[in-house]
Amino acid sequence: MNKKLPFVLDEHYTPNPKPTLLLHSCCAPCSSSVIEMLREHFRITVLYYNPNIFPESEYIKRCEEQRLFCQSFSSPDNPIAFVAADYRSDEFEKIAKGKEHLREGGDRCIACYALRLGEAARYAAQNGFDYFTTTLSVSPLKDAARLNAIGEKLAKTYEIKYLTSDFKKQNGYKRSCELSKQYGMYRQDFCGCKYSLAERILSAKGFVFDADGTLFDTMGFYETFASEYVRSLGFEPAPDLREQIRSFTIRECCELLKSTYSVSKTTEEIYDEISRMIANLYAKDAPFKAGVLEFLRYAKSKGIKMCIATATDKNHIEAALAACNAEDMFEFVLTCSDVGVSKRESVIYDESAKRLGLEKRDVVVFEDAHHAIVTAKAANYRVVAVREETELKFADVIEANSDIYVETMTQLIQK
Ligand code: SF4
Repeated sequence: MNKKLPFVLDEHYTPNPKPTLLLHSCCAPCSSSVIEMLREHFRITVLYYNPNIFPESEYIKRCEEQRLFCQSFSSPDNPIAFVAADYRSDEFEKIAKGKEHLREGGDRCIACYALRLGEAARYAAQNGFDYFTTTLSVSPLKDAARLNAIGEKLAKTYEIKYLTSDFKKQNGYKRSCELSKQYGMYRQDFCGCKYSLAERILSAKGFVFDADGTLFDTMGFYETFASEYVRSLGFEPAPDLREQIRSFTIRECCELLKSTYSVSKTTEEIYDEISRMIANLYAKDAPFKAGVLEFLRYAKSKGIKMCIATATDKNHIEAALAACNAEDMFEFVLTCSDVGVSKRESVIYDESAKRLGLEKRDVVVFEDAHHAIVTAKAANYRVVAVREETELKFADVIEANSDIYVETMTQLIQK
């Protein structure tokens, strides 16, 4: 490596005219200081090829950030061209197969570097570039020696020069932090793939869980209880009754049943009867969803503080926890009634974080309902969306507003 440069200008390098360089970039923040260092030596084209990024919305976000940075850092003397590949996540899945459980820095990452550098070498050779390299070594978590070994091997295969580098040297990483701040860039806090995202989630200090549909398998009951109750009184329920009451409290639901179906009982009597049905459900028929207990045990063993934030009555949740022998898992149960507002506002999450003694950034919210997911995300919480049959029609909203959408929580700890 040249004394004052974190990259090697080899014996073939000539400054006039500047040679062309295809610079593979993992993200705009990492590329910033690298482009700043290289632009006086090379005519740079940035290649954004990162099929490892998960989910696609994150890929699009990082890609757009990269495009904007190239545009704003470009000048007539030092133009920065930009090329983006389509999102081809299957290419990453193929090389990650069998290595899903490995920690960041292991063999999955080496294969991930090779995939991305391989595409950079192929593209550079096919398009007549003089050199190729990658921004990856700017990260303190990336092993420059391994990256360079991969790059040099590819250089031989594609008969193109590889720019040997360790861009974290000469304060490269520090400078990338300064520049990303200066340019107001989006700076992600996980490496990129779904496995690194799961690692990031599991490094949280606190988990806030919704109850129904997230922890407990109770949503089937809520889909049908009002119709069944109406039928038990001898009336035919409206086909869209479930939709009418979807965001209602139980009391609001009882008021609607009373006013719609000419029920001879008072609202209070309806409320008592439905409350008994619900109490019975939680005491006897509210099991944990698949994988929940295993996940809770894992989180507990890691010292992650956990609580429940729910719209359901506290007594019911406590009864269900007792039936599942899981009372000791949680620090507390907080309800929408306790905080005075529904999950259309983030108060219940903010109060949960506060009672756990944690900052928002250290807390992950687990939810199944799209409206609650939207609220938590808008309030800048990291959100794990848990698949629930009754919410599938909102899958697009859920995908767009969660960090990760899982079938079961055990997906996060799969070995
Ligand atoms: S942790 Fe980062 S380098 Fe490793 S496989 Fe995932 S995205 Fe690639």
